[in-house]
Amino acid sequence: MSVTNKLLRLYKVDCQVRSLRSRVDSAERYLKQQDRTLDELKAKKEALDGQARQLKATIANDENETNSIEERITSLRDKLNNATSNKEYSALLTEVNTLKADKEAVDERVLESMTRLDEIKSAIDEIKGETKERTKVRSVALGERDQRAADVKDRLTELESDRSTAAGDVPPQALAKFEEEVEFREDEVMAPIEEHSRKHMEYSCGSCQVLLPFESVNRLLGNGDLTFCGNCGSILYIEDALREVVTGGKK
Ligand SMILES: [Zn+2]
Repeated sequence: MSVTNKLLRLYKVDCQVRSLRSRVDSAERYLKQQDRTLDELKAKKEALDGQARQLKATIANDENETNSIEERITSLRDKLNNATSNKEYSALLTEVNTLKADKEAVDERVLESMTRLDEIKSAIDEIKGETKERTKVRSVALGERDQRAADVKDRLTELESDRSTAAGDVPPQALAKFEEEVEFREDEVMAPIEEHSRKHMEYSCGSCQVLLPFESVNRLLGNGDLTFCGNCGSILYIEDALREVVTGGKK
């Protein structure tokens, strides 16, 4: 078997492995995306929970303040009733009015806090609902990922063993070149020669469609040494059907 045919055997196994893996990989990516969404929802909810706790504490403090202001107003009113001079009366009245204004300001603040707290609570409820939905989606995604992984497991083990047999058969230098290229080009690492015009002996690279020098075709028909497309760098091979046609025509 020529180097090119040995590489072709490896390449075909590689393509099958990639295609099987890609189904599992896409399910895996989808699952991870669900996990990220759930993490984001969790972080949002924690932030809102924190804000709600703070607001509740602020409201409790403000309500305490209101109560203590009320107590002071009540005791000042007693004093007002027992005031012995106009001067004392008007001083006490001023103090009562100042406290009343203070209390109104605090009441206003409490009202604002409560409105904000309601908003936060409904945002939390919304996130809870979304989390519930997303959790269902995630569980379906997990099942799908596991199913796909299970579906291809045996076939992948088989193919991986085929791959190491095929790779072991390729001369080390050609294998190194192939491994280096396949990393970036994946399924594009090899390309079949395509017939353009038999009459004019024109053949092109199946990957980039650029016409190939006929010596490349001859080389593949002959000893089948490693042959690259001069334009795109694909490792070229010749399909059996085309080989028969071309050599049959010559004989
Ligand atoms: Zn090419």
